[in-house]
Amino acid sequence: MRTLVTTIALTLAAFGSQAATLYTGDKIDGVPVISQLDIKDLPAGKLHRFLFRGASNGIGQYFYLPVQVAKGSKPGSRLVLNSGNHGDEVNGIRAVQNIMASLNPEQLSGSVLAVTGSNPDAINRISREWATYNDGLSTSNFNRLFPGKENGTAPEQQAWLMWNKLWQGNADYVLDYHTQSSGTSFPFFIYADYRQPRIQQLAELFPADQIKKDPGEKGSTETTFVEANIPALTLELGTPRSLDADMIARAEEGTHNVMITLKMLEGKLGRTASSVNTYIGNDMVTIRAEQGGYADIFVKLGDKVEKGQLLAQQRNIFGDIIKKYNAPTAGKVLSVGTDAVREPRATLVRLLLQNPDPKCQLGC
Ligand SMILES: [Zn+2]
Repeated sequence: MRTLVTTIALTLAAFGSQAATLYTGDKIDGVPVISQLDIKDLPAGKLHRFLFRGASNGIGQYFYLPVQVAKGSKPGSRLVLNSGNHGDEVNGIRAVQNIMASLNPEQLSGSVLAVTGSNPDAINRISREWATYNDGLSTSNFNRLFPGKENGTAPEQQAWLMWNKLWQGNADYVLDYHTQSSGTSFPFFIYADYRQPRIQQLAELFPADQIKKDPGEKGSTETTFVEANIPALTLELGTPRSLDADMIARAEEGTHNVMITLKMLEGKLGRTASSVNTYIGNDMVTIRAEQGGYADIFVKLGDKVEKGQLLAQQRNIFGDIIKKYNAPTAGKVLSVGTDAVREPRATLVRLLLQNPDPKCQLGC
């Protein structure tokens, strides 16, 4: 706990503070629009709803992000929950909606700032990526664009606005909720930077199936916060595109554990990594299709596999087997392809493993 409290002081110094909450004067469906947030401005002991004005589209209209702030009646840690960076990943959006609905700000210490759908362009198209139309259609992985660019493309501007005008000064701990991508599936899985003990502590408060000790991805929400010395996790809640009640419930349970541990809420811890015996690996290998073809996958999420075990095969349009894939190493099945039609480089199977190389001790 001492390390977590120390972090708050370091974070305040590192991440600065906003001047004020700026209201544009507009309301949409009765909800006030803001262009900048400073939680210090808001009345305590209340749940606040806003639409945060993001980037603009080609006809000069704005993307508005749904923002909720539960501001506790007592001071404490400032927790940020983000969801919807990838538009086909909806379990996290529902988990964050449910968490906010469960909070009583009068009994909360600190604040919870929640975004339930950070990439409305992609969510509305049930698509992983943000589409831009400069020089024809192109798409961007919004979760590689943080901290954004003030004068960049629409998604780069949106990342810049979120980083500088929404999150800055309002974050001590960050949880970013995802799932695997369309055509593939994860268990309840967490990417966590184990080089920082307080991030390990946060990760192991979740009743996840698997955790990867992970040095991070440049430009992701998680890694951009970690680089700013603010502990953050990427939580992967299973399969994209549909809602999974078990994944959502476990994400809520772990998030409540985080708030209890940070002394934001009173209560007893629910299930954690130790109580569900989470498998923790430090390396992963993805077996990708080497050519196109229909895929048969012979393993399930969480299966333990031996080196050399047959994992998958592909067939051509006549049904002939054209390629077989064996495990390059022992490991645990972290992801499987769920779409049978697989182009070259598509994920067939991903394995999480414990690599004995000392360089991988805290994550490769
Ligand atoms: Zn994602």
